[in-house]
Amino acid sequence: MSTSILRLVWIYPDLLSTYGDRGNLLILGHRAESRRIVTESISVRSDQAIPREADVYLVGGGEDGPQSAASQKIITDGALVEAADRGKVIFGVCAGYQLLGNSFMTGGRTYDGLGLLDMHSTRGETRAVGEVSGTTTPALDLPPITGFENHGGRTQLGPQTQPLAQVTHGIGNDEATEGAWNGKVLGTYMHGPALARNPDLADLLLSWATGKDRSELPALDDQWFHALRDERLTHVGAGAV
Ligand code: GLN
Repeated sequence: MSTSILRLVWIYPDLLSTYGDRGNLLILGHRAESRRIVTESISVRSDQAIPREADVYLVGGGEDGPQSAASQKIITDGALVEAADRGKVIFGVCAGYQLLGNSFMTGGRTYDGLGLLDMHSTRGETRAVGEVSGTTTPALDLPPITGFENHGGRTQLGPQTQPLAQVTHGIGNDEATEGAWNGKVLGTYMHGPALARNPDLADLLLSWATGKDRSELPALDDQWFHALRDERLTHVGAGAV
């Protein structure tokens, strides 16, 4: 942590904030405060500078137009590339995920991304809408992921980035893999919000941000999270976890 306060930044709520993705900020704050980690949550509109001194940066989903507008501002601002260089945590969802890559396509044009994840996003023939779930990459030691997806993009991962999961239901990146991560930069197509439906993923981000092992974070009463997970995973035939 940059100070004794864990600083969480919600980027561009005026452009990137679809499908309850701001819930990810609330979940991280709640799970940190429940472990007596003091947090400060900062929302940064697209006409404001992104703070350099923070611990976790969250970038949510957005429609095509706001996404391309956000890409130019976020690249010009430069804070996220600096933050990644300093080993800070960056978590992107859907449009926010695509922005972390090398490029993405929308409206027949290709836009530059931040280049923090080695991947390119193009357009699919159909829109991916519905539940998405998958088994996570062993290195992250997470239970199956569950979320809701709604995107026209498809994402091709390059050799410098690893998938978050192998898809068992839905589309994700390309019907085979879902999400991507490299170092402490992680992105996913999952809304829902992703961290409410995947509390272990929230704790992984907290462990990266605090430098604590996940086993050092005191257990929380997650019965409602697990009820939601079980209901959603059973719904797609993945079974309760
Ligand atoms: N505009 C992007 C797409 O359709 C992302 C959509 C979203 O964030 N839900 O692929």
